[in-house]
Parts: sequence; C-alpha cells; structure tokens
Amino acid sequence: MELYSGHINKLIDELAALPGIGNKSAQRLAFYIIGMSPARVKQLSDSIVSARENVHYCSCCQNLTDADVCPICADVKRDHSTIMVVENPRDLAAYEKTGRYEGVYHVLHGAISPMLGVGPDDIRLKELMERLAQTDVREVIIATNSSLEGETTAMYISKLIKPTGIKVTRIASGVPVGGDLEYIDEVTLLRALEGRTEL
Ligand code: ZN
Repeated sequence: MELYSGHINKLIDELAALPGIGNKSAQRLAFYIIGMSPARVKQLSDSIVSARENVHYCSCCQNLTDADVCPICADVKRDHSTIMVVENPRDLAAYEKTGRYEGVYHVLHGAISPMLGVGPDDIRLKELMERLAQTDVREVIIATNSSLEGETTAMYISKLIKPTGIKVTRIASGVPVGGDLEYIDEVTLLRALEGRTEL
C-alpha cells in the first residue's frame, strides 16, 4: 500500500529532486503546500513558471536578467573596462553585496572539471573571449573559487587571455581553499579583491 496519495508522492518526488532538498524536507514542504490556500499555491506556481519563462542570460555578461542587458551592464557609471569573471550568479551577488566593486562581471555558469567531464566549451567562456575582442578592456579579474576546478579554470582563462595583451589578475587566496565565494564574508571578499595579483 502506498503511504500517501499519488498526487502527494509526485509532489514529494519533484521537490526532492531539487538541490539541497532531501526526502524529509520534501515531505515537509509538500505537506505545507497542501495546507496552503489555493490562491497562495497558484501564486507560488505562477512565480516559478514566470521566472523560468522570463529570466535568461544577459547578452553581455551572462548574468541572469529579465532584460536583454542586465542592470549592471546597462549602468554607464560602472567601469566597463574592468571585468570580474565569476563562476555563477551567486558569486556575483556576493561581490555586489560588498558595494565596493565598480567594474562589470562575466558569469561562466560553471568551472572546468576534467573529472566531471566539464570542458571549456561547457561554460560561458567563448562569450567572454568574444566580449574581449569587441570591447576595450583594461583588466580581467579572475574570481573563480579556490577549489581545484576554480584554479583549473583560472589557469585556462589566463593562458587564453595573455596573448591579447589584456592584464589578467587573480583574486588573493585569502579565500579558504575549496571555499564557495557565496559563503565568505564581505571583508574577506574585499581583501581578496584588493590583494589580487597579476597572472
Ligand atoms: Zn550583464
């Protein structure tokens, strides 16, 4: 005999398939949703559908945005000749929260990992190189994580950019090894940025 109705089981399965949500959390969320008013449930499901439909990658920096170009790339007051390369939008958000970085970004959406079969073509690297060829860039700051994948990616990008003559720097390793940028406090992030070294 099935423990719950088929509908609840399906909801639990869908929720459990999301990252960071185990079976127990999925059950808790499913029962919570069942207890919500139909209007609230519709609001929740509509927001999921509309976010998925309307959010896409910025045509310039690949960050997530509702518009063709994200607000950071569209901001003329920012320094468009300095590009910070990050692995994902969460890392970008971490640096934005410091409020002290005035350049723009490039989001790779991943890192090179030979072990996981993620190669240079699987991340948004081609877009970065196209961007560098088209715009006047003075410095590329590589702010990938200090994990093996992050370091591999940093080395790869630096080798790719070097021949163009553009200055390539790497944030200081004040960031703990294997640490995800998004969990690191703002002071450490700023120290890592200020202590960056040329590659
Ligand atoms: Zn952008």
